[in-house]
Amino acid sequence: MKTVFQKIIDGELPAEKVFENERVLAIKDIAPHTPVHLLIIPKKHIASISEVTEEDIPLLGECLLIASQLAKQFHIEDGFRVLTNNGTDAGQTVFHLHFHLLGGRPLQHLV
Ligand code: AMP
Repeated sequence: MKTVFQKIIDGELPAEKVFENERVLAIKDIAPHTPVHLLIIPKKHIASISEVTEEDIPLLGECLLIASQLAKQFHIEDGFRVLTNNGTDAGQTVFHLHFHLLGGRPLQHLV
């Protein structure tokens, strides 16, 4: 069964897109935790970081570059966080790799 992100990538579900190219889509999170909460989603189906292979290295780098560009575009470049939840115990709910880009308010120190 398709994940919600696969349906968005395939145009079967609406989303507020903030970036798209052939390899990557970025959207606004439907339930934002911070004033700016974007999701950077590789279009290739990869369930999570645990499933990444060597051939995905350029794609992962591109996702981080897009995160940096979006942080500037959304004026949070002075303080933002990029994170991915890996696995149910880490809170992952959608099993299609995505990076949360969070900012717009002071963020609690995690590590
Ligand atoms: P995670 O829990 O790390 O797997 O993150 C999944 C994220 O997807 C959550 O922050 C949800 O709020 C978000 N989400 C779920 N469905 C949608 C949707 N249709 N459009 C935008 N964001 C969504």
